[in-house]
Amino acid sequence: MDFGQIKNIDEIYGAETFSRFPVALAGGKGATLVDTEGKEYIDFGAGIAVNVFGVNDEEWKKAVVSQLDKIQHASNLYYCEPQAELMRLLCERTGAKRVFFANSGAEANECALKAARAYSYKKYGEGRHKIVALKNSFHGRTLFTLTATGQDSFHTLFDPFVSGVDWAEANMKSIRQVAGADTCAVIIECVQGESGVIPLDKDFVRELERYCKGKDILLIVDEVQTGNGRTGKLYAYEHFKISPDLVTTAKGIAGGLPLGACLFFGKAEHALSRGEHGSTFGGNPVCCAAAVNVISRLSEEFLLEVQGKAEYLRAKLKGLDGVQEVTGMGMMLGFTADKSAGEVARKCLEKGLLVLTAHGRVRIVPPLTITKREMDEGLSILKEVLK
Ligand SMILES: *Cc1c(COP(=O)(O)O)cnc(C)c1O
Repeated sequence: MDFGQIKNIDEIYGAETFSRFPVALAGGKGATLVDTEGKEYIDFGAGIAVNVFGVNDEEWKKAVVSQLDKIQHASNLYYCEPQAELMRLLCERTGAKRVFFANSGAEANECALKAARAYSYKKYGEGRHKIVALKNSFHGRTLFTLTATGQDSFHTLFDPFVSGVDWAEANMKSIRQVAGADTCAVIIECVQGESGVIPLDKDFVRELERYCKGKDILLIVDEVQTGNGRTGKLYAYEHFKISPDLVTTAKGIAGGLPLGACLFFGKAEHALSRGEHGSTFGGNPVCCAAAVNVISRLSEEFLLEVQGKAEYLRAKLKGLDGVQEVTGMGMMLGFTADKSAGEVARKCLEKGLLVLTAHGRVRIVPPLTITKREMDEGLSILKEVLK
């Protein structure tokens, strides 16, 4: 099919939920993609921070195909080797006690939110169920995670939302006002991705951790986007030197296959027991085999390289005419420009560069394996577009 045919079918049959760029991606190598018409693009988006090794990575493909040669799905009625390998790897790398596997970021968060309520219910009984989330957060599209998402624009159409969720500003004064004796958890993103790539203040996050520990409120860190090497650490909370009770992740964890994970630390270890949560596809063997490949390759050495690339990108972005303010952490960067973010994204696409937008900012989340040549090519397109 050529692009016109694909677009036409999508417009007739696809749910009208997406506003898409006028491109159908068909293949590529690393951070260089090709569309159905043979046009090439430098990829600064990685499928929304998913393709950590870009596309067509040989080692990653081998891990996936070798699992496909064995069994593609088993269900959680049985044990499963790639799942076992991945849970051990994640726990050894992070110090987590246990892991639950889901299929997406929203589901990983759904698990964490349910676990927080279950933890509190088992220990304190009814009524201590309030979840405090931050304004301008994004936690997913299921009703519970959408409720936790602190952006009014998401809170139309789907009333009634889940009760017992409240939103605070990202400062302790506001947290103290909103949280109370009925609060079981606070959920944060270390860098708010969808609302503009805005890192939280380090002192705030550390004080929040102390506050939560003092009141036995579980601290949930949503690392769906920031996790899996994106910020130059395996998980972004490491930059903040905190120890959360629950950590969720998804996007990049399996390098392009759907997988989510909820990590249970310390006292949250037994928050969920048999029968209290589940998933048919969660922890699928192919996705887990892919994730074992991803996580085991995100070595300290690899992460240092990511930090180096990130510093390079950030410095170059700051130096571009027309760039106003650069925010973010590691390979998760956002900036405002003299031109609108939407216009920048459209013009970049025409010239062969894929970038994302988030709340009026241009967002850059390239594959972690992007080469210097690819970064330079992308930057030179940005320079042209911004001038
Ligand atoms: C993308 C994202 C989600 C939702 O993940 P899905 O896989 O789309 O369900 C949740 N939280 C954060 C921080 C995200 O960036």
